This record gives sequence, C-alpha cells and structure tokens, in this order.
Amino acid sequence: MADDILATAPVLRFAPSPNGALHLGHAYSALMNERLAAETGGRLILRIEDLDRARCKPRFEAAIVDDLAWLGLRFPAPWRRQSEHRDDYAAALARLDQQGLVYPCFCSRSEAARASAGLRDPDGAPLYPGTCRALTSTEARARLARGEKAAFRLDIGRALAAAPAHLSWVEYGEGAVPSERAAAPAAWGDIVLSGRDLAASYHLAVVVDDALQGVTDVVRGRDLFAATAVHRLLQELLFCPAPRYRHHRLVLDRNGAKLAKSRQSASVAELRESGLNPGEVRTALGFGAGAGGALTVALD
Ligand code: GLU
Repeated sequence: MADDILATAPVLRFAPSPNGALHLGHAYSALMNERLAAETGGRLILRIEDLDRARCKPRFEAAIVDDLAWLGLRFPAPWRRQSEHRDDYAAALARLDQQGLVYPCFCSRSEAARASAGLRDPDGAPLYPGTCRALTSTEARARLARGEKAAFRLDIGRALAAAPAHLSWVEYGEGAVPSERAAAPAAWGDIVLSGRDLAASYHLAVVVDDALQGVTDVVRGRDLFAATAVHRLLQELLFCPAPRYRHHRLVLDRNGAKLAKSRQSASVAELRESGLNPGEVRTALGFGAGAGGALTVALD
C-alpha cells in the first residue's frame, strides 16, 4: 500500500468542521496544506466535516469558505460535505460489523461517563469500560427491535486481534524527515463509530473519506496526533491505505496571552474587520512575503 501512495501525485485536504468561525489555528493548517501542495505539485481539496448536525451550520461553512478565499485559498468545487455521504459511513460500519467488531451501546452520555469511573481517553474524555459489550446478541437485538436508540462501538480488543500486531504511521511533523511512530489505539477503548444522532464519528468518517478521496498526506494540528492511532487501526480493518501524516504546531490563543495585540481576536473574520489585510495575516502565521509587525502570533 505504501508503494501505491508514493507513486501517486500528492492529494491533501483541509477539513474544517463548520461549527464556528475560522480561527487562526485553522488558517495555519490551511496554509500548511497549501504550502505542501505547492512544494510537491500536489492537489489540495476542501472537505466539510459537518456530521454533527447540532453544532454545524451552513452559515459557518459559507463564512469559512469566504475567510479562506480572503486569505487567497480557493478549492476545487464541488467539495465533499460529509452530511451528503452517510451511505459511505454506513457501508464501512457494516464491513466492521461483518468482522464481528461492532456492538450496540445503549448507554446515555452521562451513563457512559459514570461507568468510566474517572478513567480518560487520550483526549481527556471519559473512557468507556465496555458495559454494553456484555449484552447477549439476543438482548441487544431485542432492544434495537424495540426502537431503543444506540450508538455503535468498536470492540477494541477484537479489533486489535484482527489487525496487524505492530501498528505505526509515518510522521513528518513540520519537517522533511519522516519518522515511524508506534500507534497504541488501545488507550482509546471502545470508540464510538456512529452515535445515537450521529451518522458516523469523526474517527470513522475521516478514515473513510481520506481513503475515498485518495488523500496521501494528512496535514493537521498536533491536537489530532493521538487520534492517528485509532485512524491507523481503522485503516487496517477497512483495508484503506495509510496516508503520510504531518501534525503541525498549534497557534496559541489569547488565554496564553501570546497574541501581541490582545484586542485582536484569533478569529480571521475579526482580524479582517479590524483592518488587517490577508498578507499581514499570512506573514504573522509564517507564510507571507511581506514585512510582519501588524499582528504577532505564537505557536506551541
Ligand atoms: N474536522 C477536524 C477539525 O476541524 C479536522 C479533521 C482532520 O484534519 O483530520 O478539527
């Protein structure tokens, strides 16, 4: 699989969730993608990760696209909206289910949190101990037949047994030298694959989409570094190729008092309104040709 990827022209994606305004951290990510695409002759596509219907809004998508265009970033249309491709995620879920790796979970969010007894996943969220894994399939089927709402979870123990023993990924960080990183997905427990009101979890949707869209290079923030272990596991179980990963630094926000002018917010729209031009924002983030100074941004 790795050979296939190396032989292909790079495909990169910027994949915002339209649940708020584009902030400087997203802009940094989009510009990193743009730079790598330019350096490698790759293609950069936009993907709108809008499966969370409660939080994602078309007006946020429109504002994000507008802010990106203001920064000089334009993407080939039409771009993929995850909410329009629920069938793809259902098919992937069915493939995992056929392998005996999925079970329905009837716990509410608060029940799952209580059951975690204080244990946390690498994101700091309650670690689900697998309560509903103990249900017999007859009982689970009966509850589903009664119309009880369920999330579907990956049985991480079985999943690990079905995957290659040594999982890893190729990590470049922000540099040019790759290193192999060991993936330890067990720390995530029985992750949600689809929720009670969510067609697919972020983990499942991102793996399905990166594969369907032929993404060769995933450029995203370090906050998603730990999640890559889960993505590598799902890629193996779904027979998807592994992209190269480039987890970049995060832009520090006002709480860290790192922006030089504290009156300036980290939202790109607010910076636009304050009179900054795109060149100044690009320069502050390290992607500009012009002189800096109008805005200072700190990275972790
Ligand atoms: N949609 C995710 C976010 O906005 C990014 C997903 C990814 O790059 O893998 O944080």
